[in-house]
Amino acid sequence: MAGDGSVTGLGRGYRGLSFWFDSLVESGVDDLAERPALPGPITADVAIIGGGLTGLWTAYYLARADPSLRIVVLEKHIAGFGASGRNGGWCSALFPASTAKLERLHGRGQALAMRRAMIATVDEVGRVAAAEGIDCDYRKAGTISLARSEVQLAAARAEVEEAARSGVDEITLVKPAHGAAGALAATLDPACARLHPAKLVRGLARVVESLGVTIYEGTEVLDWAPRVITTARGAVSAATIVVALEGYGASLPKTHRSVLPLYSLMIATEPLSDATWNEIGIEHGQTFADFRHLLVYGQRTADNRFAFGGRGARYHWASSIRESYDRVPSVFEHLRKTLVEIFPAADSRITHT
Ligand SMILES: Cc1cc2nc3c(=O)[nH]c(=O)nc-3n(C[C@H](O)[C@H](O)[C@H](O)COP(=O)(O)OP(=O)(O)OC[C@H]3O[C@@H](n4cnc5c(N)ncnc54)[C@H](O)[C@@H]3O)c2cc1C
Repeated sequence: MAGDGSVTGLGRGYRGLSFWFDSLVESGVDDLAERPALPGPITADVAIIGGGLTGLWTAYYLARADPSLRIVVLEKHIAGFGASGRNGGWCSALFPASTAKLERLHGRGQALAMRRAMIATVDEVGRVAAAEGIDCDYRKAGTISLARSEVQLAAARAEVEEAARSGVDEITLVKPAHGAAGALAATLDPACARLHPAKLVRGLARVVESLGVTIYEGTEVLDWAPRVITTARGAVSAATIVVALEGYGASLPKTHRSVLPLYSLMIATEPLSDATWNEIGIEHGQTFADFRHLLVYGQRTADNRFAFGGRGARYHWASSIRESYDRVPSVFEHLRKTLVEIFPAADSRITHT
């Protein structure tokens, strides 16, 4: 048990990273053993830095498009170590800028094309998972966003109007989940699936390997320049280099100033009974949030837990990233209280943080 009473924690190796990783080991799906590291200097056609979803999806579509390409992925820890293996499991078409703003910046045609692509991607993830045999608990039943005050209700109505105006998003005003305390209404956005993020990213890693991609784990990239990557274990020469580090870009000199790593933390409850879920009113495949500014997000996991997260964890001075920042008991307690405030029936044991 970690100091905060949950079974996740640094002392448990990769398994302790999150509920998702713990459940992979617990169910015998994946032992999280590290793949071999880069053996020394090599040459490839495409070298991808970072074994998260960005790096692995890139490898996947490249390998499918041209099986003759020599593709390598260089990963400091194990595939899925970053946010890709420990997120909220929302496979959604959300984008952090409104369609109206995209229209102002890029014109209506481009804005709607992007919205259509985002929406299509939700189904594409489900299609590839099914076609490639990645069992990642993918189920698509949309996002419920609760309006829990008059101000939030106005925001909900505005979102529905905005979606109708775009003619692409199909967001409607619906009755709130009946177990949501004090909710006035809710929106339902069908363009979202619930999934188990670690099953997705670890499954995707196995699939790209089966397509001939080599994933070198335990291989830290130190820097890169056109056609060459420097690692702690030798140089990788490649005509094309893909940087897929997201927040970790802040820890490398080339991208230090162009990325602001923001933390978001999560909790998971023990499994709840079907009767409790009936009381709560969230179905399998649904994700949920509300209209507050400081984002919260949750899902009903395939094994009937709440997985719930939010911001509130802070940005750290000089974009520093430390393992200890993953565990902030006061944020976990705040998340627990927020979850119970939204769904009183969620008041249960927190097993993972
Ligand atoms: C708590 C939380 C909840 C979230 N919820 C959602 C959600 O529900 N839905 C959603 O769509 N998004 C969500 N996100 C965001 C989403 O998870 C990320 O945007 C996404 O996973 C980024 O993927 P990536 O492959 O670009 O980066 P990452 O998954 O971070 O992968 C980068 C990889 O690079 C590796 N690396 C780091 N440094 C080096 C180095 N020097 N050399 C080699 N490798 C290195 C890391 O180990 C890591 O595996 C959430 C994020 C967080 C933190």
